[in-house]
Amino acid sequence: MLYDFRSFVNPGYYAFGKGSFNHLGELIDRRKENDKSWTVFMVDDFFKGKELEERLPKTDKDLVIWIDTTDEPKTSLVNKYRDEILEYRDILPSVVVGIGGGTTMDYAKATGLMVTNPGDSADYQGLDLIKNKGIYTICVPTISGTGAEVSMTAVLSGPEKKLGIKCDYTIPDEVVFDPELLATVPADQRFYTGMDCYIHNVESLNGTWINSLGRAFAEKSSELCVEVFSDTDTPRIESDEKMMVASLLGGNSVTYSQVGVCHALSYGLSHVLGIHHGVGNCIVFEKLEEYYPEGVKEFKKMQEIQKVEIPQGVVAGCTDEQLDLMVETSWALEHMWNNAFGPDWKNHISKEKIRELLLRM
Ligand code: NAD
Ligand code: ZN
Repeated sequence: MLYDFRSFVNPGYYAFGKGSFNHLGELIDRRKENDKSWTVFMVDDFFKGKELEERLPKTDKDLVIWIDTTDEPKTSLVNKYRDEILEYRDILPSVVVGIGGGTTMDYAKATGLMVTNPGDSADYQGLDLIKNKGIYTICVPTISGTGAEVSMTAVLSGPEKKLGIKCDYTIPDEVVFDPELLATVPADQRFYTGMDCYIHNVESLNGTWINSLGRAFAEKSSELCVEVFSDTDTPRIESDEKMMVASLLGGNSVTYSQVGVCHALSYGLSHVLGIHHGVGNCIVFEKLEEYYPEGVKEFKKMQEIQKVEIPQGVVAGCTDEQLDLMVETSWALEHMWNNAFGPDWKNHISKEKIRELLLRM
């Protein structure tokens, strides 16, 4: 059952395939209005000093902001990057490009919006609070799974909550999918972010908001995730290309439905302990047999094949206060619980049960 009627938006343009990144300059030029037009590149600082830095199609008018991914996106930093952009030139940039994973792409999406919307980005955490269209945004994923490249959310941690800025304007205008950019992702991180996608699919397929459209996206995405993480013989570039498609489809499946129990709990872990989204989801998901038995079984098979460790006992050392905040953060994600169990979700989950589940992790 749909929680709320909505007509959804997607990115306007997709460039796909090996070597697409070489055309980024042409895509930016198409958006320039005159010879004063300029571009902001927000780039994962993993690439600082690497070959990709040399390949950025930048002119001497452009600004490069290196994104530190130690912490997931914060509203305070979005405000800071916005101020930096506004002070840099006396006209607004014509394009913002986000090159990196979910963290960097969400910074680019949120900052591109905050350039044209006054005030504190924390005030816009929620649904449809943004008033004005942002700067033309191009996302270039360099690790795949979150679906941030196609989603209408920029997930931010603010002083009070971890919650997305979600509206039609948050969608990137254009996406460049070049699997060659994924070559350097370490195996553990590749698995954690890939499993974020797998879990998006499990949660949307097992949720109450699913419909035929969301199901089609999720089923194909799930099939691709299983291929990528079960088959170790396929050349990396080919499985990275598949994973880019899985991420795109998984992102759309969640757009047309919603995530569920795992995400609600893992948002609590991230908000209180700063655990990153991908690994946080893995920590939670492997303990959720009672909600997603088939998905957890398949997950464990893939984990074994990939020989990736999932951290254990992360909640063990928490204070009561931390645990309370984790429970409250999870409980507040009503839309996720509603998708997982339906409108009477409070009959299926309680704060005590959330606490009990968290203590398993
Ligand atoms: P990430 O962007 O946090 O990056 C993870 C690590 O991988 C970082 O150390 C980064 O430097 C490194 N990395 C990225 N590309 C690399 C490359 N090509 N080679 C080597 N290292 C590379 O990871 P993520 O899992 O993609 O993103 C997580 C974030 O996405 C979280 O903030 C989460 O809240 C957000 N998210 C957003 C949505 C959405 O719809 N907007 C959905 C899910 C998750
Ligand atoms: Zn996720």
